[in-house]
Amino acid sequence: MKKYDAAIAGGGVIGGAIALGLARAGLRVAVFDRQQPGQGASWASAGIISPAPESPAMIVTVPLAKASVALYPEFVAQVEEISGRNVGFRAKGTLEALFSRDTKAELSTIIALHHGLGLKAEPLRAEDARELEPALSEEVEAAVLRPEEASVDNRALTAAVLEAAQRSGAEIFSGNGAKAIWREGNRCAGLVLQNEKVEAKWTVIAAGCFSATIEGIAPYAPVRPAKGQMVALRADELKMERVLWSEKIYLVPRNDGRILAGATVEYAGFDKRTTAGGIEKVLSAAIDLAPGLADARIEETWAGLRPDSPDHMPILGPADLDGLLLATGHFRSGILLTPITARLVREWITEQRVSVDWDRFSPMRFRAAAANSAQRAPS
Ligand SMILES: Cc1cc2nc3c(=O)[nH]c(=O)nc-3n(C[C@H](O)[C@H](O)[C@H](O)COP(=O)(O)OP(=O)(O)OC[C@H]3O[C@@H](n4cnc5c(N)ncnc54)[C@H](O)[C@@H]3O)c2cc1C
Repeated sequence: MKKYDAAIAGGGVIGGAIALGLARAGLRVAVFDRQQPGQGASWASAGIISPAPESPAMIVTVPLAKASVALYPEFVAQVEEISGRNVGFRAKGTLEALFSRDTKAELSTIIALHHGLGLKAEPLRAEDARELEPALSEEVEAAVLRPEEASVDNRALTAAVLEAAQRSGAEIFSGNGAKAIWREGNRCAGLVLQNEKVEAKWTVIAAGCFSATIEGIAPYAPVRPAKGQMVALRADELKMERVLWSEKIYLVPRNDGRILAGATVEYAGFDKRTTAGGIEKVLSAAIDLAPGLADARIEETWAGLRPDSPDHMPILGPADLDGLLLATGHFRSGILLTPITARLVREWITEQRVSVDWDRFSPMRFRAAAANSAQRAPS
């Protein structure tokens, strides 16, 4: 029987980065993926690195997000050095365009919120915003520049992270997913794979939106897929430096000249098909924000499945079975949160403490709810 210090279920950017951190700390690590690693949400993503909360409920994630943003340059440098690959990190800031007539009040609310959270944000008049980003629509009334935000080519990053993990000694197995956790009393002793068991002191569940399909995991990580449809455009005449946002859409320029537009948020099970309605929604909002995109070539369309949790927050940390750790439910922020997730899991396993408080994201918040509803259910 194979035996490791850490067995990780899931070879996306999260599982890959955890494997890299643990292998570099000297542990014997293996990643098991049910298919080819790196082809899930981490491949489908837009790669925006923005700690700004998308809603008031997400404000509690800001300290975690800020810690991850701070780690990003060092994380990218390490991954690029070990893997020998470029990951297309662009630390150029992002710009949010406001269209409403009453932008003055909206602008001061957004700026105050950001500053209150310790996030840099600068108000811009429409003409100044268009000077920075000439592709912006004439209809834009004002904008917010967030100079510390960034983006990364998530496909390149995920491939490089997996390569770096392997070069650092992690073993990566494709086409051999986890059916269940291997439970022995109050302990998780490893993973039950398709045709074998693997023994591990630590078992880490990082199987993205499929995490809850691993037997024994749903009470801790009741994640479900949230589909996002994306389009890649090429418009050689259009200059775009920063990630641009509107209320309906984001546009993400890549180093290779492509501009990604996304994304829908749909609860359609594990269906990954693109639809006419979804792509139409993305394209029309993209053209509203940057009208020059009407002439762009469509290079690619795709959809991916974000791992969403009931409260839309990540699920991080130890469970009530010794040796079991969860690192999933990153929803719309998994690329952003990769460096801090890998760091915290490594710290917990090697030092039994973490440098950023992660209690708020504990898998036990769902375990308790699952136990209560089981007690209430009629027999
Ligand atoms: C359209 C879209 C846009 C996005 N944009 C952004 C963005 O701009 N910024 C940002 O930060 N985040 C973004 N996200 C979210 C981000 O991509 C995800 O949160 C992140 O990629 C999750 O990574 P993961 O490794 O947990 O999951 P995945 O990348 O899905 O990896 C999970 C892996 O687990 C494997 N697996 C499944 N079942 C099993 C099993 N039983 N056993 C073993 N392995 C298994 C899968 O094959 C897969 O390889 C976006 C996502 C989408 C879909």
